[in-house]
Amino acid sequence: MEQKSLACPVCQSNKAEIAGEDVKLSGQFQDKEFLTTPLTVLRCTQCGYYMFFDKMTQFTTKESDES
Ligand SMILES: [Zn+2]
Repeated sequence: MEQKSLACPVCQSNKAEIAGEDVKLSGQFQDKEFLTTPLTVLRCTQCGYYMFFDKMTQFTTKESDES
């Protein structure tokens, strides 16, 4: 299992809230429509950037600033 320490690619904040689970995105590429596998959507509480992760990703959550 992949483990990630969360960091927003925009503002580098490590705080995010879950915006949705088991979210499937549909889209189009050339003439074909596709549907993604279920994703977990996190939203950065700092800047509002949305991040999408597949089910295989596990997070290490750091709520405090202690290290
Ligand atoms: Zn951010």
